[in-house]
Amino acid sequence: MTDSSQTENGENDFTKALSNVFGFHGFRDNQEDIVRAIVSGRDVFAVMPTGGGKSLCYQLPAYLLDGTCVVISPLISLMKDQVDAAKVNGLAAEFLNSSLDSAERTRVSRELSAGKLDLLYVAPERFAAPGFLDVLKTVPISLFAVDEAHCISEWGHDFRPDYLSLSRIVSEFGDSPVAAFTATATPRVQDDIIDRLTLRDPHVTRASFNRPNLSYQVVPKGDVDDQILTFLSDRKDEAGIIYRTTRKSVEETARELVRNGVNARPYHAGLEDEVRKANQEAFNRDDVTVIVATVAFGMGIDKSNVRFVIHADLPKNMEGYYQETGRSGRDGEPAHCVLYYSRGDIPKIRYFINQMEDDAQRATASGKLNEMVNFATVNVCRRSQILGYFGQTLDAGGCTGCDVCSGTVDRIDATREAQIVMSAIMRTGQRFGAVHVTDVVMGANTQKIRDLKHDQLKTYGAGSDRDKQYWRGIIDDLTAQGCVVRTDGEYPVLHLTAAGREVLFGRREFQVLRQREVPKPARTRRKQAKQIKQQITDFDRELFEQLRTVRRGLAQERNLAPFIIFSDRTLREMAHYTPTTPVEMRNITGVGDQKLLQYGGDFIQAIEAYLSGGE
Ligand code: ADP
Ligand code: ZN
Repeated sequence: MTDSSQTENGENDFTKALSNVFGFHGFRDNQEDIVRAIVSGRDVFAVMPTGGGKSLCYQLPAYLLDGTCVVISPLISLMKDQVDAAKVNGLAAEFLNSSLDSAERTRVSRELSAGKLDLLYVAPERFAAPGFLDVLKTVPISLFAVDEAHCISEWGHDFRPDYLSLSRIVSEFGDSPVAAFTATATPRVQDDIIDRLTLRDPHVTRASFNRPNLSYQVVPKGDVDDQILTFLSDRKDEAGIIYRTTRKSVEETARELVRNGVNARPYHAGLEDEVRKANQEAFNRDDVTVIVATVAFGMGIDKSNVRFVIHADLPKNMEGYYQETGRSGRDGEPAHCVLYYSRGDIPKIRYFINQMEDDAQRATASGKLNEMVNFATVNVCRRSQILGYFGQTLDAGGCTGCDVCSGTVDRIDATREAQIVMSAIMRTGQRFGAVHVTDVVMGANTQKIRDLKHDQLKTYGAGSDRDKQYWRGIIDDLTAQGCVVRTDGEYPVLHLTAAGREVLFGRREFQVLRQREVPKPARTRRKQAKQIKQQITDFDRELFEQLRTVRRGLAQERNLAPFIIFSDRTLREMAHYTPTTPVEMRNITGVGDQKLLQYGGDFIQAIEAYLSGGE
């Protein structure tokens, strides 16, 4: 297809607007086709993963077309951030929902009627409200954008009856294009959405579920709080979410992190509304770096610079795992997803599944749990497993970061070592904890060993060629794989299980996974360079920190979330290219005309001060 708006240097009206308004130098996959379809008046149905850049698909047409774009979105808590983000890019945006007082509502309605708005965000129930459609009919409408469109389908996982009123859009506003977006829709849900919204020969996009900038890792779970602290030790100031299953474990891990100097807060449904809101808000605004949460934390997170998601307990199924890990790296920058896996988590989930009354439901849940366990235990590329779950395939060599592909995970036979440990447990009468058992295995010369004559046991010193950490690791693995259990109580002791005896008597092998090194997230191979725009890895960290401080200050003054001012990527580019003129600044990704005008000066000043030695 030829493009009459194409200029000699390959720029067209769309890429020009993209650069002027958003400061982006190129479209992501599918964005341009969707924008073109809408601008030419066509309906759209698009499935795009979280972070795929859905909002740009309707915000750019909203800018290019005359009239107001009406965005229907179910999450009132997100509307302010979405409107703020549009406003700082120079779009005239407002929202109408129950959180506004009547004076504000009047002001917004007036601006709407005067045709001054590019974007109006509304909740679905407003559509059913008498009078609202009548008001809309008096206003020129550029398009309707239906966000989280799967909510209209009873087959979907998040049906909302309010969404049914949206089926009136086409019959009442026949001239305006309707664009429906969602991050999750099976083909059946897709048909249902198109049907219910009565979309007219829509342009359909099903983007890949692949999130190339996320890297995946599964680590055998030991003392998970310790493991998390080690993980965090070289990620100071990086924002992340740690998922735990129970409120109690959320509280405990959060307390442990805080005790060790991590700026962390808990989040679960048992907290007072106020506290929960405050913790989420503090995280959103970079005042808190780590949130320890149950899965209740999720809906309503729009923070784009989440750099890691940790699952400290096994998720129930792959959908949950995909959604929760998907909350990292929405800005397209590398993010890391770690699952600490222990077989010991399985019985707890099984227990809940067994409580389900409906047989079919119980069978489904059980099957899903098995798939989750498989994901964590088989030696197959994690990314291809995730995509496979959603019925997609990954090109050979297409993985952009997982522990299996980067060859950093080895499956090692440790049957002999397991036998040494378990033999020591047996021969000491299953009455001691990990410390003493390790001492026996290593042949330590302690008072306790001398008193109990454990230096006369056959296994005494059988493992003296390895260090203490190694044997503690084997004990963790034995526990994780259900060969050994730790009793509860103040002095937990180790017991063998039936599975443990199988290994001890040589009837079964025992294997462990060992990491060689932490995989580097998202390598940029040539093939992937298109997907992941050149990562900026060498940038001045000190300058980056200073720019973050500037961003925080500006955000506080204006009551905005920091990522709305500039993304981490933008700050990283600044810390790499050190722009000191408006023209140089405008070349940075994410710096459009409006943001240059509003914030460019502050950042140029900070960069200059830094370059000249900080005066
Ligand atoms: P979604 O709603 O699909 O989860 P968003 O619309 O929130 O995703 O976009 C995710 C992030 O990607 C935002 O920070 C947005 O500014 C950024 N983004 C979107 N499109 C582009 C692009 N073409 N180039 C660079 N960044 C983009
Ligand atoms: Zn892989």
